[in-house]
Amino acid sequence: MTHPEQSQPAWLTAWHALADEEYGADQLNELRSLIEFGVSEPEDTLNVAVAAAESGQALASALERPWSLYTPAQAAQVASAALAQLHSGAQALVQLGEVLQTVIGRGEASAPADGDCCPLRLAKDLAAEIEVSTARSGPLLVRRLQEWPSRLSLPEGCHETLAAVCGLLPAARMETAHAEDAYEDDEDFGCGCSVVFDHEGEEWNLSRGDSGWSVHRVREERPLGDGSIVVTPTFVTVTDATPHPGALVASVLAELEESG
Ligand SMILES: [Zn+2]
Repeated sequence: MTHPEQSQPAWLTAWHALADEEYGADQLNELRSLIEFGVSEPEDTLNVAVAAAESGQALASALERPWSLYTPAQAAQVASAALAQLHSGAQALVQLGEVLQTVIGRGEASAPADGDCCPLRLAKDLAAEIEVSTARSGPLLVRRLQEWPSRLSLPEGCHETLAAVCGLLPAARMETAHAEDAYEDDEDFGCGCSVVFDHEGEEWNLSRGDSGWSVHRVREERPLGDGSIVVTPTFVTVTDATPHPGALVASVLAELEESG
C-alpha cells in the first residue's frame, strides 16, 4: 500500500500505518481481489456494498467484548479505522452521484428536478457533512487517544503469564518444570510449566503448546512409561503467547462453561 507524501490528519496517518501492517489481510483478500480485478457489473458492486457494511457492523460487535482492546493506543488505531470507514462512506456517496450522472447521460434515467429533494444533491450534501465532521473532530480524537498513557504491564513470556494467571484462577498452583530462571521461553510451546486450578470441584490443568493455550482434566492424564503423559487438550480462544492474564482467565473460564 503506497500513500502520497503530504501533510495529513493524525487519523489518516494512523490508519495508513495500521493498514500497512497487513492487519485484516486474511479477512479481506477476496474483497481486495474483487476490487482489483472483478467489479464489472452491479452484482459485484452490491457484493462489495454488503461486505463494507458488514465490516462496520463487525467492528462494533468486536468492541462489545470486554477484552477486545487493552490500551488507549490500540483504541487510537481502531478509531483511525472507524474514521477511515466514515471517509470511505462519504467518498462512496460522491461516486454514487457520479455513476448516476453517467446513467442519466446514457439516457437510461431522467435527470431529477434540482432542489433540496434531488437525490444527487442529497448524496453530495451528506458526503460533505461527513467529511466536515470527520475533519473537525477526527484528528483530535486520534491524537488524544495516542497521548493517553496506559498503566498496563503485560507479562514477558509464557512463564510469567502462567505465574500471573496462577494468581487469578481459584485454588491454583504452578506445576513448575524447571529451576527458577533456568528455562527457554518458547512462544509456541511455552516453558513446560502449567497451572493446576479448581473448577467446580474438579482439578484442571492450563498449559501452552502448539501455539495456543489449552486445558485438560487432571484426572484424564494418562502417564506413559517414559515419564511423559498423554492428554486430550481443549484449546481456548486466546492464542497470543503473552496475552493480558485477565483475558486468558476469562477465555479459560468461558471454555469450561461452554464445554459444561
Ligand atoms: Zn516455566
